[in-house]
Amino acid sequence: MLLRQILTGLFFFIKIGYTLLTMVNRMRHNRSQRGSTRSHHALKGLALTKCSECNSAIMRHQACTNCGKYRGKTVVELKSKTKSKSSKKVETK
Ligand SMILES: [Zn+2]
Repeated sequence: MLLRQILTGLFFFIKIGYTLLTMVNRMRHNRSQRGSTRSHHALKGLALTKCSECNSAIMRHQACTNCGKYRGKTVVELKSKTKSKSSKKVETK
């Protein structure tokens, strides 16, 4: 009777271990599944267009960083680089 209980307990633990192993193996992805998932993870380059005013490369649907215009209208007033540099020099003196 005692031997039978020990054997049934032993088989129970073996069965649990087997099911845990099969669960881990079932959830594992093979190389093909991993590759097909990662095939969509590549980064795409920026879609740049040219500004109609100054022909510099700009991002779509955003104001030009060079002249501050969007679709021909000035939306951002930018200070020119030469003026800002000269004003800094004046401030330091
Ligand atoms: Zn521009």
